[in-house]
Amino acid sequence: MSKTLFAGVRIICPHTGVDEVGDVLVDDGRIGLLRLGGGVDAPDAERIDASGMVLSPGFVDLHTHLREPGEEQKETIETGAAAALAGGFTTLCAMPNTYPALDSRISIETVRERAEGLGVRIVPIGAITVGRMGEQLAPHHALAAAGAVAFSDDGSPVSSAGLMRRALQYSEPTGLPITSHCEDLSLSAGGSMHEGAVSARLGIPGIPASAEEVMVRRDIALAEETGGRLHIAHISTAGAVSALREARARGVPVTAEATPHHLLLTDEWVAGWGALDGEPNADRIVGDGAYDTSTKVNPPLRSGDHVRAVLDAVRDGTIDVIATDHAPHAPTDKACEYGCAAFGISGLETALGLLMLLVHRGELDLNRLVHLLTAGPGSTFGLSGQGIREGAVADLVLFDPDQPWVVDGEALLSRGKNTPLHGHTLRGKVLMTVVGTRTYRANQMEER
Ligand SMILES: [Zn+2]
Repeated sequence: MSKTLFAGVRIICPHTGVDEVGDVLVDDGRIGLLRLGGGVDAPDAERIDASGMVLSPGFVDLHTHLREPGEEQKETIETGAAAALAGGFTTLCAMPNTYPALDSRISIETVRERAEGLGVRIVPIGAITVGRMGEQLAPHHALAAAGAVAFSDDGSPVSSAGLMRRALQYSEPTGLPITSHCEDLSLSAGGSMHEGAVSARLGIPGIPASAEEVMVRRDIALAEETGGRLHIAHISTAGAVSALREARARGVPVTAEATPHHLLLTDEWVAGWGALDGEPNADRIVGDGAYDTSTKVNPPLRSGDHVRAVLDAVRDGTIDVIATDHAPHAPTDKACEYGCAAFGISGLETALGLLMLLVHRGELDLNRLVHLLTAGPGSTFGLSGQGIREGAVADLVLFDPDQPWVVDGEALLSRGKNTPLHGHTLRGKVLMTVVGTRTYRANQMEER
């Protein structure tokens, strides 16, 4: 029976509303004692002097691509779970764009079975349409009964408005949200990055902001008409954010998520001109006409005005969820010209460090950031845990909000080494993730 005492730690728990320094004793996979202000005496426990560190509920990711079944060269459920623990995530929602797609009862059950015993709660999202082909509705009731927590054709939009309307109608009886990847293919076709000054300079065909906005407006209209439960994936443009803000003010049942990369990186990163706060960017300029395929993602990294609009919506509560859109790829998927490269960023392990930039800049409260990674997503998909309270099963992440570390793509536990942050310094590091009796420790913790 193992005991761990987190002593003098800043406890941030959105579930209980606590944001105070105290002691937390984890005893055989449960929270045995919680004392705000400290004072727990547990001589038989491993004592972690956690002053200056933060203990919060484990993070919840509503948007993860685990690639299994069918593309195990990019990721498996097991390697994705390991990456999740390293990033502080204890709940993952697995996207259904696998091969075959998660559009049948057996496929949903298989993912759940493969995820057992990995220490991370992995819940599948069912496909909206059969084979994600956008032609015929998948059996939503059967998928819900098998354990799907939402429906999405993510990676592809549901281009038929009639079919999306039907999916939203079904979301009422199932009670499960429809996650929409909002992209008008007639506008985005052939594009590889955000359409703007940088795409013009590089000569890379662009994806206009309107490709997202028109689809967001369509889906909001459908949700308003049907009363269906709409969740917008990876929102990235100012126009879409405006539509979302207006719809929520009217009481339309719509939520949205933003990704770390859309909140922190701009289209300048595509050209190799990106730099994080405090980094010299002069030596990162790789020259005109060069590009970095690890920045290719869908929706694309946008220009600064769009990034600011998404951040404003995260700050004012219009957006209540940060999701990673973790999209691992094999090296060959990215070692090619920009137009041919796969869309996606491996994001689970860099999410916290990247997002902490917003806190260090004074643009987001740490308390609010924890909410956006825990209770915000948890309540959006009905996945909330118990939080940090005595008797609850341990579901915790310990992180140092200030510790700097250099991202090494090759060292990621994910099979996807595709990160535009390789070589960059982040400030904020996950040290321990605890799920029941299972504990992940970062290397730095082993040396302590
Ligand atoms: Zn998507």
